[in-house]
Amino acid sequence: MENKHPTSNIQHPTLNNIVWHKTHLNQEARSKLKNQKPCIVWFTGLSGSGKSTIANALEAKLYQLNHHTYLLDGDNIRHGLNRDLGFDEASRVENIRRIGEVAKLFVDSGVIVLTAFISPFVSDRAIVRSLVEEGEFIEVFIDTPIEVCQQRDPKGLYQKALSGEIKNFTGIDSPYEAPKKPEIHLKTDTITVDEGVNQIVEYLKTKGYIC
Ligand code: ADP
Repeated sequence: MENKHPTSNIQHPTLNNIVWHKTHLNQEARSKLKNQKPCIVWFTGLSGSGKSTIANALEAKLYQLNHHTYLLDGDNIRHGLNRDLGFDEASRVENIRRIGEVAKLFVDSGVIVLTAFISPFVSDRAIVRSLVEEGEFIEVFIDTPIEVCQQRDPKGLYQKALSGEIKNFTGIDSPYEAPKKPEIHLKTDTITVDEGVNQIVEYLKTKGYIC
């Protein structure tokens, strides 16, 4: 018998005896209690572009505004859920796929989920977008020139990548595919962290995600 996830066309042989369990409470009820419209605020950009910095500051701001959030951060996820994955292309794709599925569960729980991952490939970001309903995926392009990222080098990773100590490093020996039509585009070499946060908060207010 055919067995599909309700929002996906992917069929998997091991799903044959697994039935999607409908819960009594739905996303609408959970969101109403939290007084917000849940979504994924998906930060993408080069290492050192400012994804974690802005995502953290945004989460603090949303907390002040009484909103329910959760921040999924690249390094933290790689310490647990994705600790078995490396940095080759297939592992990077799987890394983002799992994060997308986790983010989708958060959205179902009524939470505004912020994610800070390089997520260099257009196709992977498109897959995550397709996992959730229209309007539930907000792509935030943290657009910082690689020269600035290298100069900042907050974790010393560019230095290691340039000396060959780290392989497949985005922007050095692995590509970064910039979003063509992100919902929000921030150039952090010309704006402050606070200005970036304010632009995102304005977007969320204008579009009715938060009040
Ligand atoms: P990423 O998560 O993209 O790898 P991080 O947020 O860890 O990047 O690091 C970005 C670094 O750049 C931090 O040290 C931060 O203080 C610095 N920085 C300087 N100006 C900005 C800005 N306008 N927006 C974001 N980060 C900035």
